[in-house]
Amino acid sequence: MINTDQDTIAAISTPIGEGGISIIRVSGEDALTVVNPLFKGKDLTQVATHTINYGHIINPTDHQVADEVMVSVMRAPKTYTKEDVVEINCHGGLVATNRILQLVLTHGARLAEPGEFTKRAFLNGRLDLSQAEAVMDLIRAKTDKSMDVAMHQLNGDLSNLIRQFRQDILDVLAQVEVNIDYPEYDAVEEMTSQLLREKATDLQQHIQGLLKTARQGKVLRDGLATAIIGRPNVGKSSLLNTLLHEDKAIVTNVAGTTRDVIEEYVNVEGVPLKLIDTAGIRHTDDQVEKIGVERSRQAIKTADLILLLIDQSRPLSAEDKDLIELTKGLARMVILNKTDLPTALDLAELKQLVGDDVIIKTSIANQSGMQELGAAISHRFFNEGIEAHHNDVLITNARHISLLTQAEQALGDVLAGLNDGLPVDLVQIDMTTAWNLLGEITGDSYQDELLDQLFSQFCLGK
Ligand code: GDP
Ligand code: ZN
Repeated sequence: MINTDQDTIAAISTPIGEGGISIIRVSGEDALTVVNPLFKGKDLTQVATHTINYGHIINPTDHQVADEVMVSVMRAPKTYTKEDVVEINCHGGLVATNRILQLVLTHGARLAEPGEFTKRAFLNGRLDLSQAEAVMDLIRAKTDKSMDVAMHQLNGDLSNLIRQFRQDILDVLAQVEVNIDYPEYDAVEEMTSQLLREKATDLQQHIQGLLKTARQGKVLRDGLATAIIGRPNVGKSSLLNTLLHEDKAIVTNVAGTTRDVIEEYVNVEGVPLKLIDTAGIRHTDDQVEKIGVERSRQAIKTADLILLLIDQSRPLSAEDKDLIELTKGLARMVILNKTDLPTALDLAELKQLVGDDVIIKTSIANQSGMQELGAAISHRFFNEGIEAHHNDVLITNARHISLLTQAEQALGDVLAGLNDGLPVDLVQIDMTTAWNLLGEITGDSYQDELLDQLFSQFCLGK
């Protein structure tokens, strides 16, 4: 049987595992007729919409009680999917939840694909594409700030902006059409080129501004890849542990590599740091890390931010100097550690080597200087990083970045065409291309393939 968008679908919508309650969500035309025979309590087909109903889920074949439940009945169209939705709230626990899901699946619903509820919300016109993507971002949001960005996107801020861009293009194209109808007037030809040039320039600048926010957006979403480096014994492990302690780290397993890579996230003053190669920094006994510099070289390659530790209670070593050289010109902060001990390092020499880069003094052992470090990271990211544009609209999504980049190029082609004196109807084609590309962001023009790929990234039950 082929899955269609007309099937009634079901899935567990709460995280799997031990929780207070779990919710099995059922959506589609048959949602009520699927659940009703399994429910002992009121007749769900008769209850008012948007009500919660107490009762039991029973197996109609052997009349065994599966669980005590609360069932929400929400009739179309005021629901998440704009279809009839029934949500069964049961008692957490994997066994009960699965048992109920199985009953629903053997009585007329099919298992939802990942993201399928949200896909329906989109197909039924409740969300546009960028809003649907925001739902996914919300689920994954790692800090308050990234939550904010996703919320704004969900509210349609990005969509409104893109729609405005598209409307502007349409207006110009319409004007161009009108002008083309009067080819006998030379002045009109000149006016048309001028109009196209002005609009293309203006839009190009707006889009470039949006793209500037993309890096910041990406970081909020994925975390700033951060490498802690330094020669053995400078305090890398101590710094890592301090960061991890202060901000309850989120640890995720990235499967699919030969050995699972552990990614650790910490939230430093609203900036999510994704710490690179923490396995290499963690060590129980303090064995000397012989491969220190080689390991650092690897970490540096993928880092957005480098925290280079130097022990100020010892003279600068050749290894310190190697690492300073290696990170020259990169996004680096120098941390001068062990300030509780007497200074043995030549500060003037260090300053000369690191140039204008920020030097932060810490005693990680005494937890001093940690606030300054946090403030410096946050300042660098929010104030010096990328200027914020369009206030709260940040581009965080790789697909949006790619489409905006292409649209920006198409507008560049418009301008190049005008400069080369190409006929206006050829220039018009590039303008239309920009319009189409922007439409893909909001899903006003979209392809089925894209949809499938997009929604499959959601977790099950959303
Ligand atoms: P790593 O080899 O770079 O990971 O360094 P560790 O974090 O393992 O630290 C090496 C040693 O220096 C340990 O004994 C730490 O307790 C000590 N240490 C770390 N930070 C400080 C500090 O600020 N002051 C002092 N006095 N000792 C520190
Ligand atoms: Zn270490």
